Amino acid sequence: MRLSQLKPGETAVVTKILGHGAFRKRVMEMGFVRGREVTMVLNAPLQDPIKYKLMDYEVSLRRAEADMIEVEPFDRLKHDGRATRHPDTASHDPAKEDNGEEFVAKHKIINVALIGNPNCGKTSLFNIVSGAHEHVGNYAGVTVGAKAGTVKYKGYRFNIVDLPGTYSLSAYSPEELYVMRYLNQEMPDVIVNVVVASNMERNLYLTTELIDMNRSMVIDLNMYDELERSKAVLDYETLGKLLGVPVVPTKASTGWGVDRLLDTIIDVYEMKHKDVRHIHVKMRPELEKGISQVKDIIKNDPTVPANFSPRYLAIKMMEGDPEADVQLRNAASYKEIAETRDKEVQRIERDLNEDVSAAISADKYGFIQGALAETMEGNVLEEQKTTRLIDAIVTSKVFGFPIFICVMLLMFWATFQLGSYPMEWIESLVSWISGLIGEHMADGPLKDLLLDGIIGGVGGVIVFLPNILILYFFISMMEDTGYMARVAFIMDKLMHRMGLHGKSFIPLVMGFGCNVPAIMSTRIIESKSSRLITILINPFISCSARIPIYVLLVGAFFPNHGALVFFGLYLLGVIVAVITARLMRKFWFKEDETPFVMELPPYRIPTSKAIMRGMWSKARQYLSKMGGIILVASIIIWALSYFPRYEMEQVPQSYISATIADMPEQLHQDKSAEEIDGLVLNSYQQENSILGHIGKFVEPVVRPMEYGWRTTVALLAGAAAKEVVVSTMGVLYVGEDDADLISQRLSRPSNLTGQPPFTPAKALSFMVFVLLYFPCIATLAAIARETESWKYAAASLAYNTVLAWILALLTYRIALLF
Ligand code: GDP
Ligand code: MG
Repeated sequence: MRLSQLKPGETAVVTKILGHGAFRKRVMEMGFVRGREVTMVLNAPLQDPIKYKLMDYEVSLRRAEADMIEVEPFDRLKHDGRATRHPDTASHDPAKEDNGEEFVAKHKIINVALIGNPNCGKTSLFNIVSGAHEHVGNYAGVTVGAKAGTVKYKGYRFNIVDLPGTYSLSAYSPEELYVMRYLNQEMPDVIVNVVVASNMERNLYLTTELIDMNRSMVIDLNMYDELERSKAVLDYETLGKLLGVPVVPTKASTGWGVDRLLDTIIDVYEMKHKDVRHIHVKMRPELEKGISQVKDIIKNDPTVPANFSPRYLAIKMMEGDPEADVQLRNAASYKEIAETRDKEVQRIERDLNEDVSAAISADKYGFIQGALAETMEGNVLEEQKTTRLIDAIVTSKVFGFPIFICVMLLMFWATFQLGSYPMEWIESLVSWISGLIGEHMADGPLKDLLLDGIIGGVGGVIVFLPNILILYFFISMMEDTGYMARVAFIMDKLMHRMGLHGKSFIPLVMGFGCNVPAIMSTRIIESKSSRLITILINPFISCSARIPIYVLLVGAFFPNHGALVFFGLYLLGVIVAVITARLMRKFWFKEDETPFVMELPPYRIPTSKAIMRGMWSKARQYLSKMGGIILVASIIIWALSYFPRYEMEQVPQSYISATIADMPEQLHQDKSAEEIDGLVLNSYQQENSILGHIGKFVEPVVRPMEYGWRTTVALLAGAAAKEVVVSTMGVLYVGEDDADLISQRLSRPSNLTGQPPFTPAKALSFMVFVLLYFPCIATLAAIARETESWKYAAASLAYNTVLAWILALLTYRIALLF
């Protein structure tokens, strides 16, 4: 009987916990474990919840929850003459039991349901196990309704039910509906999912649904003889580990492997099997977002029956399954669930341009592809022909890496080379505008603000919009076509050397765009420590906000070796990331061997609409960053360098003579005395502005690299966003004539000192510093949010900055030698 049927004052012993895995775990943690005595204390006024006494404390359970706990009344056990409080000891030796009819304690009865596609050998298995003679046949639909049989094995009694064959658990065909209702009402202890070894791909679809359900399960890999005859080899043990469900090969027609199957069922039932764990069949983030919203409502509603896991119900609700609706109809939050579902389905179909059910099943097949690609060799998969063809090349041992490297090179080449044309157009537009303002506006602070603050700052950064759009175009193409999943797949071995998993590679590639969404995308990584490491090394992947700095300095100082320098910088970032990951694995997080499936979704050709929408949203983000944080930062930097104002009379004579003495000969001949006075005043003005004082205060930290105080300020300002480094330099290195580009201002000898502010060695060292030093505020916030700890963000800030300092100094010293 069930715990909910106990009357006040009655005592019983727990024999079984039914329901989905998460529920069982929770109830067991509350103390409802097998063999434990429970006394019903009292009903709440509405009979719900019910209060129970357990050992010496009281707990209350919802009626729906108490319905999922099977008990044996204590009195009945005693009167049976086998006075024992613990059924565990009751039947260790059934042969010794009296009066012929063996006594089998309740908990030694295992209810098993056979579930699988039509024609996978369920009835054959049922017959051989139970000794029945049900009709087997090589056509679908032979089993109508369910047949039950019993067998005794190793002190257990197996009640086996042979269910009709189904391809999935959507309640559309009568067979499917029958299986669904059975799973709901009968709550078998262990599900045996029979799959045909020679047709894994289609058979495993049902398995993914059963995994969602989170019930105790064993996979019976039947018709193993056919697999042996074919050339295919399946590493079924690894497959079991990946799925978190033990896999046992059998040949039901001869009975081979059946004992092992029964042994495994016992292990799973007794929760002793080491491979059993609950995994998620992961889908695209767009889908996962919707599913988790619906799931959270279901999970937090105690009136939802505990028969099925919240995730399973959520997925089925998203699919519009009528049975799931029946399950949830009486729940308190039904309306909220249905509304959220409708909203999310609409959003997903808009985002993906695809029917939700189709998207879910496509992703489940992607999961199956991934699991089989890792464990099966020489198998002829049923997947689409094109996908198979492309995969044969793209993930092959010979071509996989070269193709990936070519794609990466193409991406960077396009970003910098192709991007340089539209960049020049925007540059000339910016020059033209500033020329216009320079000519037509009256001199004064407002003109200075517009020219030096806003156009110098924002204008200096906005020119990189085309580069960034091209980069994003490539990244989203890789994601949307399904190529990114293949990249993760071929990178798996390499990533394992870093103590990571192939899946960690996807956030790293995305990091070339922006570290913030990349860090968020680490949610696809199941292993906690792998995820943490992937998050922490992500800032070393050079994001697109750092592109302006490289383009600026490479253009000014290494115009002939541009590609080499870009490549070297990106490579340096990757190398530092790899070393950091290995160090973290060695000293911080233990190796984590839990294997998981890398989904391989079918290839899709992204629609131009989806691409345009993606590019537009990136462009909008970039522009709003320009209009937001970068504009504000530029104005603040400008104001801090503009005030307080000085007059020529305030400039000390010593400063004037020292500056003039430093000036190159040429200048004295070209410029009038008035112009020279203006230059001296400007220089004094900047150096003694608020910003000048800040810069000079911090400057000693980077003195070994001789960056100077202006660059120091630019580095500090980069905390707001990395683009601000360039915009700050644009504000601080003010040109002589208004239309000058920053790159010219940096490389041309300054009028005052005859020295250019930057040299190639300094530029190189500076780029290394910017590549590695502290992440921007948005990235730090993402790290803190995703790791749920500010400590990791602080550690990232400190470690990255120290490392940047050391490597930048090394770069500078080495570069000076040449
Ligand atoms: P059900 O529809 O799942 O109940 O499948 P059946 O038990 O009716 O079996 C379908 C066909 O597969 C029958 O012809 C069986 O003889 C055959 N079969 C079952 N198990 C095996 C096996 O392990 N190896 C081979 N070669 N055939 C099997
Ligand atoms: Mg059958």
